[in-house]
Amino acid sequence: MSIYPKLFIPGPTHVPKSIMDILSTPQIGHRTEEISKLIESILLDIKALLYTSNNIYLVSHAATGLWEMGLRNSVQKGVLHCVNGAFSSKWVKVSEACSYHYNVIDYEWGRGVKAQDIDKMLSTGDYDVLAMVHNETSTGVMSNLEEISELMRTKYPDVIWLVDAVSSMAGIKIEIDKLGIDFILSSTQKAWGLPAGFSICSVSDKMAERSKLMENKGYFLDIEVYEKYFSKFQTPSTPSIPHLFGLREVLNIINKEGLNNRWDRHKEMRDYTIDWAISQGQNLFSEEGCHSHTITCIENNQNWDMDKIYNKLLERGYRMDRGYGNLRGKAFRIPHMGNIYMEDLKDFISEFEKVIHV
Ligand code: PLP
Repeated sequence: MSIYPKLFIPGPTHVPKSIMDILSTPQIGHRTEEISKLIESILLDIKALLYTSNNIYLVSHAATGLWEMGLRNSVQKGVLHCVNGAFSSKWVKVSEACSYHYNVIDYEWGRGVKAQDIDKMLSTGDYDVLAMVHNETSTGVMSNLEEISELMRTKYPDVIWLVDAVSSMAGIKIEIDKLGIDFILSSTQKAWGLPAGFSICSVSDKMAERSKLMENKGYFLDIEVYEKYFSKFQTPSTPSIPHLFGLREVLNIINKEGLNNRWDRHKEMRDYTIDWAISQGQNLFSEEGCHSHTITCIENNQNWDMDKIYNKLLERGYRMDRGYGNLRGKAFRIPHMGNIYMEDLKDFISEFEKVIHV
């Protein structure tokens, strides 16, 4: 058995050796025709995966930096944050640190973001930006983007809509152009199934126009700078070239699988995990209608000894999750995304079952 347990935590997720090997492809120059061809082909496939003609940027840092990019290129009047878990809550800290005028719609953890609550707050006219997390990794809650899109398109077409899709992009179908999302971001260590430290975002024309009007947006996260380089299929600074090779490989795998098959696979793994949890007498932490396709958060109402299960699974070659922050031991998460296929999930759950009562 490998000294490295197979990861069943909600990021970084499992990356098989075949993909890790691709990351050690020899370096190429970042101002060469070779890299431009590589980037162009990656952007083309990401646009197809996200059903968009918006500009896509590849960014060599964690997604947290893109929270800031979204805000710095859009907030003039104020930003309304929807908070329903740990990551949406952390995003607020960025607005606070950047001294933006902001307000928060606060949900009980486990609940999804609702269009009517957004409507109530945006109708004040105090905000020109809405920020929300599509898939709250801390709670396994996936909010309904269609419902929010309907509201944004019909009543608030001038408000910039920022969406964190860190643990949903590439695992759940998100039709950006149809939904009208202005800025959506993800990092690679979740459903993309690559190592951490690299991110992807999509920027609408509306967002790019807003960016041009912004003062004090700095240089590193300026969308105008990004656009200047990406129009030549290059990056503003030296990128993580191994991640580019890795992304190319993952996109090849995705293309072979087919997008609809990929979305279905994630949904099937979600259903399997939910059925298993219910059959064990456990409940789901996420509210009905908001169960994520990429991660299931299970309320531990059977009082399983999660530390014991964790240690026993480690002995068997798996690292599991015991729950985020204060939820530790009370609600644990089973991720099922990216390079995890039904067989991997079944193997994990079968090992899990063996150690529940030993
Ligand atoms: N947003 C969500 C929903 C996340 O789950 C995470 C990390 O787990 C982040 C943002 C932060 O991503 P990164 O660590 O790439 O900055």
